[in-house]
Amino acid sequence: MQETLKRIIRDVPDFPKKGIIFKDITTLCKDPVSFQRTVDLLGHRYIGKNIDLVVGIEARGFIVGAALAYKLGAGVILVRKSGKLPYKTHKAAYTLEYGKDSLEIHTDALRKGQKVVIADDLLATGGTAKAVVDLVEKLGGRIVECAFIVELNELKGRERLHPHSVFSLVQY
Ligand code: AMP
Repeated sequence: MQETLKRIIRDVPDFPKKGIIFKDITTLCKDPVSFQRTVDLLGHRYIGKNIDLVVGIEARGFIVGAALAYKLGAGVILVRKSGKLPYKTHKAAYTLEYGKDSLEIHTDALRKGQKVVIADDLLATGGTAKAVVDLVEKLGGRIVECAFIVELNELKGRERLHPHSVFSLVQY
């Protein structure tokens, strides 16, 4: 299955800037069998673990996060780029493979002690996911795992997220 998913994820060289090979999951998402399989594989990992909430990271993490939450019968909460969320927020700055930004979560997005899975399409340096970990922890959430479709091993995002558990469906 790993190989099938790998084949369907499109490489876009030099996007969004020279030297980056962008792993484009839109080719996976538009294929009904691959998309369903992806969500099922992630879902089976967390079924029975009493996950309260899945955190989706803007923007492709919303697709993975919402589908996974539905599968688990959990809620979905959003972490968005600065200035997008309407209510009171906490903010965390982060760096990514190709730039800098900041992310926000609603101050009432989760209650202390709730069990969450953090979901995104791809783990590169881990800067984005680490910012989300910090936001979830600030609100007292219990992070069960950070889940990704793709992991770029070379960039060592997994180490950056230590001691949190990391799971990915395909690695490069
Ligand atoms: P990082 O913070 O370095 O782990 O970067 C992860 C975030 O940036 C995720 O939200 C990804 O969607 C995006 N991203 C970083 N590098 C790539 C890449 N090579 N291909 C696709 N998305 C990427």
